Amino acid sequence: AQHELARKERLAAIGEITATVSHELRNPMGTLVSSVEVLRRSLHEPGPEARGELERIQRTVWRCVRIIEDLLEFSRRRELSLAPLAVDGWLRQQLAEQQGLGSVRLRLDLAAAAVVRADGERLWQAIANLLQNAVQAIEASTPQGGGEVTIATRIEGGTLVLSVADNGGGMEKTVRARLFEPLFSTKAFGVGLGMPLVKRIVEQHGGEVRVASEPGCGTTVALRLPLAARQAGTGDG
Ligand code: ADP
Ligand code: MG
Repeated sequence: AQHELARKERLAAIGEITATVSHELRNPMGTLVSSVEVLRRSLHEPGPEARGELERIQRTVWRCVRIIEDLLEFSRRRELSLAPLAVDGWLRQQLAEQQGLGSVRLRLDLAAAAVVRADGERLWQAIANLLQNAVQAIEASTPQGGGEVTIATRIEGGTLVLSVADNGGGMEKTVRARLFEPLFSTKAFGVGLGMPLVKRIVEQHGGEVRVASEPGCGTTVALRLPLAARQAGTGDG
């Protein structure tokens, strides 16, 4: 029991440090994000090499920002701040600002015209994590005909189904079984907080996560969220 208590205290201390450090890293990373953007705009005709490097810096900086956001979200249990969210339009808007898909094609199949009560910031964090996993799965497997990610929405009864599908390498059963385990990662530089966070955020919204994945055929992750009460059961938007 003594031992268990010491372990819990240590974990709590680590959580505290993680929260503080990731919070402190937020501002300097924000500076980097905007400096790189200013630099990119001020170079009028950068050669292909310079442009490639700038894009790489930008993607890398964004990756760091996401890791920090994930650590922060994971180490602090915050209350959701819920508001009605018209999902399809919101998704289009968020995706327009999204960076770092590289050469992956993005297909949208938005047909829900749904409104959910959600914390947009958290929900986006979940979707951004799914997108990142999809892109990484594609980059690791180079599918024939090119990598493609499809984001789709549809309504099933009183539920919004928002799915992110990729044609990357898919998952072995052993990976699938540990998918939601914190710190589980098969990547050289993976943190292993993405899927646990996705699950936590979706469950905080009263929803659930379903995963379909076959080695060699890609992966589909479906977030199932309850429709806003006003809309549930009417079938229209
Ligand atoms: P990380 O991305 O840091 O490794 P995640 O929690 O996001 O952590 O994912 C855990 C593991 O699940 C990944 O390392 C990978 O093995 C597997 N995984 C997640 N999403 C996909 C996907 N779309 N395709 C294939 N494997 C995936
Ligand atoms: Mg991930």
